Amino acid sequence: MCAATNSFRDSVDRMFAHAAGLMELPPGLEEKIRVCNSTYTVRFGVRLRGELHTFTGYRSVHSEHMEPVKGGIRYSLDVNQNEVEALAALMSYKCALVDLPFGGSKGGLRIDPRAWNEDELEKITRRFTYELSRRNLISPSQNVPAPDMGTGEREMAWMADAYKRLHPDDINAKACVTGKPHSAGGIDGRVEATGRGVQYALQEFFRHEDVMKRAGLEGTLAGKRIIVQGLGNVGYHAAQFLSTEDKALITTVIERDGAITNPQGINIDALRGYIQSTGGVRGFTGGEYREEGLLALEDECDILIPAAVESVIHAENAERIKCKVIIEAANGPVTADADAILKRKGVVIIPDMYANAGGVTVSYFEWVKNLSQISLGRLERRHEEARARMLVEELERLSADTGLNWTLSRGFKQAFLTGADELELVRSGLEDTMREAFGKMREVWLANPRVDDLRTAAYVVSIRQISNVYGSLGL
Ligand code: GLU
Repeated sequence: MCAATNSFRDSVDRMFAHAAGLMELPPGLEEKIRVCNSTYTVRFGVRLRGELHTFTGYRSVHSEHMEPVKGGIRYSLDVNQNEVEALAALMSYKCALVDLPFGGSKGGLRIDPRAWNEDELEKITRRFTYELSRRNLISPSQNVPAPDMGTGEREMAWMADAYKRLHPDDINAKACVTGKPHSAGGIDGRVEATGRGVQYALQEFFRHEDVMKRAGLEGTLAGKRIIVQGLGNVGYHAAQFLSTEDKALITTVIERDGAITNPQGINIDALRGYIQSTGGVRGFTGGEYREEGLLALEDECDILIPAAVESVIHAENAERIKCKVIIEAANGPVTADADAILKRKGVVIIPDMYANAGGVTVSYFEWVKNLSQISLGRLERRHEEARARMLVEELERLSADTGLNWTLSRGFKQAFLTGADELELVRSGLEDTMREAFGKMREVWLANPRVDDLRTAAYVVSIRQISNVYGSLGL
């Protein structure tokens, strides 16, 4: 695993360097943007089942060109420093690409969340929050965690509550973490957000014949054959929306214990229910089962959606990949070596920093909601309208004064001011954000022959954005 995560970090740096090499950055700035500012490692003990257990956690801050810094916390036995640093770097680039006023950060706890019961996980999470809070690594204005692999609303609620107890006077305490349950200050649409963003990204891709042509695709999403690897929160929502709303066919789902294939399209809700009740896909009757799940990545299809861990497409299997488009719902699923092979084969990759930016985008909406303490629901609408208008004006004024983009996206603002309910508001803001970012990437990709793929275009847009911020800070 360590080799894989080293290569993940190495891949991120190599992809960054490729793009930065095409730009004329002031001396020293390339390195300043690339390096991780700091990584905090903590080892803490928790008494559980009559024994003291020691856990290792990390919070890495990649870039503080904007604060707070933002990024999830993952619970997994594979967590290590190289991995959180690579993931933190991707957060900086992701936020810059979709124009969110955040720097990048990421955290992790080396733990198998399935090995502990709920009470134990709560104790561990609260203790981890305490350790992070002592270092200002959880704070509404400095560092705002969110869910990632192995964590969700429940863990975020514990963290928010632990933070509130530690900082009873902080009126913005709710904004210390995003991805909370609605009752704890969360926002509608955050759970589905990353998968929804994957859907919007593909819809946008299919609106542009010039980019579709580069992948050898035509027509619409309807009837396109899709393979999804990982039916967790992100993979499930992406697959569910693409199959039920866009009428695409999810022909294969790859999970831990094997793959299910059905050329007529898998019923995603039924499969998800089956996994939840049995723990795996083996025995599901809505398709054919294969034990060697990862080999299914190499099956014939139009679109491949890796939605689990990093480095699943690597130098050894890249040559055999047969899809036309890969959309990276996971962070770092394609290594730099595989990326070069796939490019040669003509496979178009919609890169992670764009494809999975839906989560952090909706986190931003949640954070704004918590800070402004505005309730976005229709019921309170009339009462809140004047404050909503003031907030939008204030953000625009800030934006004009500082040259930074603090404005809410167009769709979000429109829905905000016209009284849409919270879920509509979030979805329209997210769609707008995904469309705008795609437009920027596409423009750079098509206009510059040296920008040889969408990932490089994404890096160029994002490095330019970060370097502009440094410029406006006088650095
Ligand atoms: N963990 C998610 C990501 O990798 C969401 C981060 C956030 O919402 O801050 O983008």
